[in-house]
Amino acid sequence: MTATIDYQAIETYALAEVAKHAPELEAAALVNTEKVITAFRNKMVSDYYLKPTTGYGYSDVGRDTLDLIYAEIFKTEAALVRSQFVSGTHALAVALLGNLRPGDELIGLTGTPYDTMQSIIGYPVKTKGSLVDLGITYKELPMSGEHVDLEAVKGIVTKNTKMVHIQRSCGYSSLRKTISVEEIGRIIAAAKEANPDVIAYVDNCYGEFIEQKEPTEVGADIMAGSLIKNLGGGLAPTGGYIVGRADLVENASYRLTAPGLGGEMGATLGDTQREFYQGLFLAPHVVQQAVKTAIFAAAVFQKLGYEVKPLPQEARHDIIQAIKLESRKRLCDFCIAIQSNSPVDAHVEPVPAPLPGYQDDIVMAAGTFVQGASIELSADGPCREPYNVFFQGGLTFEHGRLAIMAAAKRVGPKA
Ligand SMILES: *Cc1c(COP(=O)(O)O)cnc(C)c1O
Repeated sequence: MTATIDYQAIETYALAEVAKHAPELEAAALVNTEKVITAFRNKMVSDYYLKPTTGYGYSDVGRDTLDLIYAEIFKTEAALVRSQFVSGTHALAVALLGNLRPGDELIGLTGTPYDTMQSIIGYPVKTKGSLVDLGITYKELPMSGEHVDLEAVKGIVTKNTKMVHIQRSCGYSSLRKTISVEEIGRIIAAAKEANPDVIAYVDNCYGEFIEQKEPTEVGADIMAGSLIKNLGGGLAPTGGYIVGRADLVENASYRLTAPGLGGEMGATLGDTQREFYQGLFLAPHVVQQAVKTAIFAAAVFQKLGYEVKPLPQEARHDIIQAIKLESRKRLCDFCIAIQSNSPVDAHVEPVPAPLPGYQDDIVMAAGTFVQGASIELSADGPCREPYNVFFQGGLTFEHGRLAIMAAAKRVGPKA
């Protein structure tokens, strides 16, 4: 039998770890809130911008203004923020498919991309309709430990390379770390040294509003992500975004709708317009709550003897916390505890199951108001060694704290 665990002491320790990071997290939230309200003011957001449109959605001023607001916040020429993106993967796919042509070369510079992106690229398995299936060449540079080898970048990128793919967040990979905006800047600079015309593409999922700068401020030409993660602030019911150079965003818009139509069509239904605006307004604060929850989780599970990534003391570049639980039972127990401490479907018990786009069975806790929204408190993990759970989100730190303590008690110490 294991000795009795003093959960009260663990909680106190974890709260102190969160408090150490509070000044920098609050500074980022303040800067990002200022960016948002400044953009809202500059674009003269009015009550009628928040109303729905129907049919073709011509002259949807709320939609078109939100594009301009995203462009201002991300310091880009253009943006495409749409409820018609079914997910982050869809927005990321549209940005790739709209800008690559048969014969072009794409190089992944941050190792193996996120599971669903592998299906879009068609590598290592050539999937139907993927980039590889369309005749685009794909190569990959493995990460060199926690970082990207800049000399290797200069070696692999050539005059024939059309685009480089950079993924900010570690996603479900136990092999890599999330990289900072600063490092993304260095990777892009190395790629552009080898080929000044190369398009720098960034998968920004889970990274928005964590730092005071975004990858588009350090050279990213096109970037995309999900609205049911950071930028939706918990309110966006669906959707994705693309920001970047005007010509690249335009090319993507022809993929989202049709050549000639682009971003000028697409109605904003129901209450979505208001939810996009209000969600963006809340996002800097909500992201901060999620990061505090992640640090809290790291500290609690580290005390219980588990390997955690990032460590509670480390600087954060996304909202994800990985915990190496090392058994299928602990992975399931963790998700069960999170689920039963969620506002929706708390009575439901999660079980591992296959998920479209993913290679292994996935077990997930997602007792969320918006289905699958991972800015809301959620946990998931592929059922494979070493049974890492990826925990993210939390609209309020109070909720995150309660759920993590419940998970700690259910999973117990490693020893
Ligand atoms: C979440 C995520 C995506 C897209 O996932 P969706 O569930 O389709 O929104 C892509 N890349 C990374 C790194 C992600 O974390």
